[in-house]
Amino acid sequence: MATVEIQSGVKTKLDGVRETLRGAMLGRNDVCLTCSFQAEDVLLAKLAVELDASIPVLFLDTGYHFRETYAYRDRIAADWRLNLVNLLPEKTVAEQEAEHGLLHQSAPDRCCKLRKVEPLFKAVAEYGVWITGLRREQASTRAALDEAALFTLPGGKQVLKLAPLAAWTTREVWYACEQLEIPLLPLYERGYPSIGCEPCTTLPLDASDPRSGRWGGRKVECGIHIEPAASSQNPRENAQGASCATASDS
Ligand code: SF4
Repeated sequence: MATVEIQSGVKTKLDGVRETLRGAMLGRNDVCLTCSFQAEDVLLAKLAVELDASIPVLFLDTGYHFRETYAYRDRIAADWRLNLVNLLPEKTVAEQEAEHGLLHQSAPDRCCKLRKVEPLFKAVAEYGVWITGLRREQASTRAALDEAALFTLPGGKQVLKLAPLAAWTTREVWYACEQLEIPLLPLYERGYPSIGCEPCTTLPLDASDPRSGRWGGRKVECGIHIEPAASSQNPRENAQGASCATASDS
């Protein structure tokens, strides 16, 4: 049972997010939203499609997601009539594995680059505004997340990257989903607090860190929230520290 404090806080925060989305979306046709189909992204998708049912909802279809994630994505997309855009890497999983083996084991940064970063940056370059479900509480790498910031893509184009849920807690997200009758990805019931590709997602190694089950502790971000220019200047610092001028990966 949510406390009265959470109930009234979420109501105020929902009003604020709706206002942010209204300001970002209305009168524009160059706005997209990325969605990993984790709770915060689905909450944002719900609020965004209330304003514009045609907003492109970008999903990084790496080919490595859990069966449950694909089934849930398809169910939500059908029920809400989402304008779902599945972003595919250049190579299928079979082609990549035939050429390079299991990159998610041998070189996860390279695997994420091929299957997430490159397809996403290419797609986002078509837009002027990128809405994400990133939250500061998700990880230490996101603690300084701005709610709005310019993000420079490879090639120099800048998009406005928004994180309207930046200040939300996990409890608030879950309470809002409950209030809006949003069904959640069933994998949460199996104890996964953060869900990405199946080979790189386990139950958390540290109960206090929801992302500690991602990549077996070998890394903490896939790279889609790190500006390429900053990344090339000092990859280690940016991988550990920062950056999201911005969104919810995954
Ligand atoms: S999360 Fe794992 S499987 Fe998915 S793209 Fe990154 S390294 Fe590859």
